[in-house]
This record gives sequence, structure tokens and C-alpha cells, in this order.
Amino acid sequence: MGSVLIEGGTVVTMDRGRRTLEDASVLVEDGKVAAVGRRDSVGGKRAEERIDARGMAVIPGLVDTHLHLAQSLIRGYADDLSLIGWLRERVWPMQGNFTKEDGRASARLSLLEMMKSGTTSFVGVDVVSRYGFEGIAEEVSASGMRGALAKSIMDSGSYGGERRIMHPGLIEERAESLAEAKSMAGRWNGVRDGRVKIWLAPRSLGGCSRGLYEEVAELAVGLKTGVTMHLAEVKEDVRYAKEAFGMTPVEFAEAVGLAGPHVLFAHMVWADDREIGRLAATKTNVAHNPSSNLKLASGVPRVPEMLEAGVNVGLGCDGAPCNNSYDMVREMKLAAVIQKARLLDPTAMPAQRVLEMATIGGARAMGMEKDVGSIEVGKRADLVLVDLRKPHLTPHPNVVSSIVYSAMGSDVDTVMVEGKVIVKGGSSLTLDEAAVVREASERAAGLAERSGIRAGD
Ligand SMILES: [Zn+2]
Repeated sequence: MGSVLIEGGTVVTMDRGRRTLEDASVLVEDGKVAAVGRRDSVGGKRAEERIDARGMAVIPGLVDTHLHLAQSLIRGYADDLSLIGWLRERVWPMQGNFTKEDGRASARLSLLEMMKSGTTSFVGVDVVSRYGFEGIAEEVSASGMRGALAKSIMDSGSYGGERRIMHPGLIEERAESLAEAKSMAGRWNGVRDGRVKIWLAPRSLGGCSRGLYEEVAELAVGLKTGVTMHLAEVKEDVRYAKEAFGMTPVEFAEAVGLAGPHVLFAHMVWADDREIGRLAATKTNVAHNPSSNLKLASGVPRVPEMLEAGVNVGLGCDGAPCNNSYDMVREMKLAAVIQKARLLDPTAMPAQRVLEMATIGGARAMGMEKDVGSIEVGKRADLVLVDLRKPHLTPHPNVVSSIVYSAMGSDVDTVMVEGKVIVKGGSSLTLDEAAVVREASERAAGLAERSGIRAGD
């Protein structure tokens, strides 16, 4: 691998001092950041490739800590419904009719949207066997992005207190769920120099027996991998945990061994003070998904309180049916403004803290804070250039504020993962955009027809 000099941009380092450097350059050598500083102080005259970053912000690649790769084909088919109806009437019937080729097409569409809007690393959750796990891993590998794919694990088709409500096409037996997780981990965990990882995703409370959660917790330690699960997403989850186990969701998770720096809970909308204290004490991570929580009317999680208590929080886009996009830049604005309104306090969630969640916080949630999440010498070069020469970004006296409050994913010009450019001039270099979009629309129409769902319903 060669060397690239990114020259003359506003570099938002997100290093320990949270320095932003004007008229600065980043030298990338062999996939890593070799130098960062004012333009005249960074060498690299012999760099094999030069990228003119004048008029652009250079930020660390964004980390999406919770998204469903197999949901972009369902975009627009499941709007304005409550969570259970949303799952039972739309999302599950469509996902339950997926073919392996639908799984690939959906993954490609999600990956394309993510990379074009500045995401470089992600946790793709709830991969069930029928989506074609192998094919999805191949797509992530080919995209050039950094992804942890979390295998869905279950031994019941239930959700909370609702018995066997899941679509039959999505239900897996305990043994087959676990066997595929193990074989995928054996073949894919850590390949492509660590770009692809295999995680475990036990289904949310009600979807697994207590013994299975315990087995997953042990398996994660044995495989040295991450575990992620939806937890305390809706109020009903708390009621169910108390009724079924006599504990709060976090107490139950900790009791079965699901706590620690390798564990990532999505949502935690209904966390109480004690649970927040336990998450902080055990260094368990949270993925905050503001659009999803608002659109599904799940509630607004107490994110400033979590951060204050020392909980590590990352951001996530969740899925196309509940967001409806995979654009982390837009997600950042929402993460800031909803807390201000909830607490009637405009200082409750500053732009800087939001960008931390979207970069270094997300990297920590993925166990990769030593490798990515900030622009520092020695770290892997996952970088994003945001074009600031737009009406809605003019002027930009504070670049961090401008990116969080004014920017959109479509302002992303260049994306680099491990020193390799995968998006240039806003276009993907690893995916054929027209082909991906065409195939996804055709497959979505076929999928809806097989599932008995009509557009516009
Ligand atoms: Zn989710």
C-alpha cells in the first residue's frame, strides 16, 4: 500500500485534546495516519497520491453502532405503525420471505448509502440465516468498509410476553442458530486485516430462554467477540423483564453474563438510574438510535444522564423501516436536538459531544478505539472529507457545529478506509451505484408481492 497526502483542509482530529486544525494536512502511509498537523509542518512531498482538501473538513470516519443490513429493501413499506404491528404486519413478513439474493441486494444498498454518507465502520445486527450470512459477509468484504456482523440467535419465536409471534420464515432452532454463529466466526472473524468481524446477537427479551442467554455470554468470551442486543427499547420490555424474571432489563442481562466492554445494548430508552449506574460500572456500551426511537414512539433515552454517569454511548441509524435512512450525519443533528427539547435545556447535548458519540464513542463500542475513531498518528486511516462549500454550510465559524447541525450525508465528498479511497467526489468506487439501486428496487417489489404487501398500503 502506498502513501496519500490529504492537503489543506480543516482537520477535526477528535484526539484527546479535541483539536481542530485549520489549513492542515494528513499524511497516510500503509493504511495508517503517519502525520497530522498544519500544512507546512506535514511532510509527504513524495506522497504517491494527493487529495486537495481545501474547502473541506476532514473528520474521522463515522461509526454506526446499530443497523439492520437486511432492512433497506423494506424502506417505505412500514411507516406510521406501532412497534408490534410494525414488526408483525410488515417487517417480519417481508424479512421472512427474503431469499439469499435479497439479503445480498439489501446489504449492498445499505452499504452504498452508508459509505456515501460518511460511515466507515458499523455493527450490522440480527443477521438470520435465511438472508445468506456468507453472501452478506462477502459484500462487506468487497465494499471496503469495516463491519461487525452480528448473528441473530434465538430459541423461540416470541417477543416479550407475546408468544410465537415471529414470522415462521425467520424462526431458527437453537442448535442451528448457534452452529452458524460458530462456523461464521471461525471463517470470517478478523479477516481482511480485521475489517470483518462476527458478533453474536441474541434476540431481545422473550426471544431466547434464560439458558440460551447464558450460553451466548459464554460463547462470546470463548470466541473473544462482541455481543449486541436490543434492550429496554419500549416500556413494555421493562414490564416483561420484571414479570418474567423479577428484574430490570439491565439486571437480568448482567445476571446471565451479558455485561462488559464487549457488550453493546441498543436503545436503553427506559433505563433507570440504577441501570445507568450498572452500565457505567461494568463498562457496557449503549447504541443510541434517535430517529428510530422517535418514529416508533418508543421514547427519548436519557443519553446526557448516561454520558454524565460515564456510560459509553455510540450512535446508530437502526433500520430503513424505522428511520428511514442510514445517514449518520442526519442522525447526529437529531441526537443533539431531542435532548435539548426533552430537558428544556439548549446546553444538554452540545455538538462536540454528539460528534464524539458518532466517532470515538462508536469506535469504543466496537472495541476498536485504539485503531479508529480519531485522526491520530499510528491509527488506521479511516477518514471522511465533507465539502463545506455549500450554501447551507456557509459560513462555518465552528466546523464541528456546522457538521452536526447543518450538514447532510450528501455533503460527503471522499471516504477512506484503512488508507484506501472507497468514495471519491461523492461516488462509490467499490459498488456500481446504478446497478445496486436498480436491483434493490426490483427485488423490493418482488419481495413485497411474495409477502402480500402492496405499496401505498
Ligand atoms: Zn434495531
